[in-house]
Amino acid sequence: MAYLIKEIFYSLQGEGMNAGRPAVFLRFSGCNLWSGSAEDRPNIPCPFCDTDFVGTDGPGGGAYAATEEVASTMAALLPSPAPGGNRPLAVITGGEPALQLDTRLVDELHRGGWEVAVETNGTLPLPGGIDWITVSPKTGTRLVVTTGDELKLLYPQAGLDPASLEGLPFRHFILQPIDNSSLGENTRLAIDYCLTHPRWRLGLQLHKMLKIK
Ligand code: SF4
Repeated sequence: MAYLIKEIFYSLQGEGMNAGRPAVFLRFSGCNLWSGSAEDRPNIPCPFCDTDFVGTDGPGGGAYAATEEVASTMAALLPSPAPGGNRPLAVITGGEPALQLDTRLVDELHRGGWEVAVETNGTLPLPGGIDWITVSPKTGTRLVVTTGDELKLLYPQAGLDPASLEGLPFRHFILQPIDNSSLGENTRLAIDYCLTHPRWRLGLQLHKMLKIK
């Protein structure tokens, strides 16, 4: 079965503990929580979704039959000569990457020397071997990925109290204000929550501030 990929691009990671780090992003097409159609948006757990994950029409997008083809498209975006020191970072995102990401692709990326990071809504199981797991829970959904490196909660979400998550075994707890018409108010609420619950730190979307992809 082919991997349906919306886009593959090189940029700086804008969110979470890896913010500012150069990375190649692989955005899978499709999400299990939303069809992507405007008429469905009001009824989904995350109507604030700011990602276009529909189709395969972005740069580097398409139907990829082989893991080697995906990995070579990603590697071609890295600066030359290859960066020394740290392994290059691959951020696997979506949509919901767990719909398509499998062990074969994770292994292929590891063979190419990549550090593999995944950003998931946490409602579907992930393949093993991933180096950095970011879970972003959505209200009314059931988490099956209950451990990882960072738990990034978009805030505020009605019916989803951060306190209900902070007992989970994650290394970092991040509150990221929801970027909608109430961004200013959401940011103030997130700051207040972090100040009174210092287990959490504020997460901002660096790429939006810098106006980069
Ligand atoms: S889970 Fe993420 S990608 Fe899917 S609809 Fe919600 S915010 Fe958008």
